[in-house]
Amino acid sequence: MFNAILLNKNDDGSTAAQLSQMDDAQLPADGDVTVAIDYSTINYKDGLAITGRAPVVRKWPMVPGIDGAGQVLESSHPDWKPGDAFILNGWGVGETHMGCLAQRARLKGDWLIRRPDGMSARTAMAIGTAGYTAMLSALALQEQGVDKDSGEILVTGASGGVGSVAIAILSGWGYRVVASTGKLDETDYLKSLGAVDVLDRAALSAPGKPLQKERWAGVVDSVGSHTLVNAIAQVRYGGVVTACGLAQGLDFPASVAPFILRGIRLIGIDSVMAPRERRIAAWSRLASDLDTAKLDAITREITLAEALTQAPEIIAGKVRGRLVVNVN
Ligand code: NDP
Repeated sequence: MFNAILLNKNDDGSTAAQLSQMDDAQLPADGDVTVAIDYSTINYKDGLAITGRAPVVRKWPMVPGIDGAGQVLESSHPDWKPGDAFILNGWGVGETHMGCLAQRARLKGDWLIRRPDGMSARTAMAIGTAGYTAMLSALALQEQGVDKDSGEILVTGASGGVGSVAIAILSGWGYRVVASTGKLDETDYLKSLGAVDVLDRAALSAPGKPLQKERWAGVVDSVGSHTLVNAIAQVRYGGVVTACGLAQGLDFPASVAPFILRGIRLIGIDSVMAPRERRIAAWSRLASDLDTAKLDAITREITLAEALTQAPEIIAGKVRGRLVVNVN
């Protein structure tokens, strides 16, 4: 028997989440690697799954947890053997396939990547999908030609998981990062991560003009809606915006003006189905480039039971940085 968070659908369509005892027979049969989870994490999407605030879960009952790190226990996959250290992010785990907010999981070997040498399971989950998405966003800016001398970079949702790690990565690479946040009392925190300036997100969250004063060479947005649209309207000629999130909303009430008059580029970032080579490259850069002291400063460790109480907090935008879950 092992401990897991188990989600069931109530008759009224709402989600019932509880800490449960499960056995291996309840794990999905369509997996070729059984793993022991050491650490998992709570991302925004896990918050949505546990609270039932959005239809993230598409199979019931479900164990949430889109991220896991630990060791292989049993494997019939040629690349994995007992004792191997792995990281799992996405692929529908915690949505359509039982996830990692549990002491055990049965996964597909094709989904796993090797944990970089020297990176602990706890560090991997302190980074989690949020941090790996921040790296995908930062790499996209670089690949699109935005370098540290191009000008200021705006990071929205700055105190959240994606935002906090994006600030740490980009400032570590020498970029001048400006943080947009609803938590101005976290200004010292954001500056300690490397932000040179902090803006009140209220300046970006209401409808604005299609073209505004040009300021940003690049943007990492995890907020969507009017925030993304205003950020786009403030990007300098030829600048680049990455969009990965919807913390304000899924809507995109934009104008084509910045695209056709300023030649700006909008790059979509997806972590869930990202190809394996891309994941390995991102995790390798996270292992080499992310300042572990900064990562420690943004991370809080919680238990499996506390994951239930923190889920509504992350959806309410009240969580600072990253929550790592010690499942044992
Ligand atoms: P967090 O909850 O940790 O961070 C989101 C941050 O957004 C909050 O901390 C808050 O920051 C800001 N925010 C929250 N509500 C609002 C609002 N109503 N208006 C404006 N800003 C708001 O989540 P994550 O960092 O884990 O994820 C961020 C987003 O990215 C989510 O939408 C998530 O689903 C998405 N995501 C997408 C991925 C992909 O593959 N495309 C992968 C990972 C995440 P502050 O208080 O500082 O303003």
